[in-house]
Amino acid sequence: MTVLAALTAALSSGAVEVIDLTAPLDEQTPIISLPPERGQPWPFAREVISNFDDAGPTVYWNNIRLSEHTGTHFDAPAHWLSGKGGHDVSQVPPDRLVGPAVVLDLTGEVERDPDFLLRREHVEAWTAEHGPLPANGWLLYRTGWDARGGDPENFLNDRHTPGVAPECARWLAEETPLAGIGVETVGTDAGLAGDFADQPYPCHWFLHGAGKYGLTQLRNLALLPPTGAVLMTGPLPIVGGSGSPTRVLALVERTATEST
Ligand code: MN
Repeated sequence: MTVLAALTAALSSGAVEVIDLTAPLDEQTPIISLPPERGQPWPFAREVISNFDDAGPTVYWNNIRLSEHTGTHFDAPAHWLSGKGGHDVSQVPPDRLVGPAVVLDLTGEVERDPDFLLRREHVEAWTAEHGPLPANGWLLYRTGWDARGGDPENFLNDRHTPGVAPECARWLAEETPLAGIGVETVGTDAGLAGDFADQPYPCHWFLHGAGKYGLTQLRNLALLPPTGAVLMTGPLPIVGGSGSPTRVLALVERTATEST
């Protein structure tokens, strides 16, 4: 049996499950809020083209309007000054969009401190238990923040949202084989990261400077094992785009003990 035949058989039997890590996209989907003097991303909006009416008696469809960074989305290197001249979202090689995922669960720390910053020691404690960070893989940073997804004010939390400390972001970007980092919050950086004295927006700066990627507003990370899942994402190939709304799926192998 080929690898892909074994995979489709496992999908059919339920031995491999597909988990949707994407937040639903609608007019209430939270967007990042920047200081008022800055440009602002558009929230999701739609306008009916036709809905089985005079404009299209047999057709229902909509026009939509949103930013490249609205809802669950993919950040490409071209998004940041440090990655200027790097790949835009249409240029990201497709084999970078499928890879192993590992989940680091810092939910307890974030419950105690919504401004919690992941540090290298947390990642090294995880790798001591679970093994090295995977090549071409995704570090999925679980914080429990997805539980706030239905309440935009609570989700944005007046910019008090968790992130990654600058030295950890630099290390992950420059010294690990990861493809990128995925988070449950509105952006890969902490809500207050624009004020970091040593390196503002360190995830954006270091990841994109190293040609790596970000994924945001993920859900259902609690359904993934610490290691062993495969992540797949499909940002739109917007030519020249800095990122794109994207679907994020994970393949998870159910162990014998779980299925009994
Ligand atoms: Mn973004």
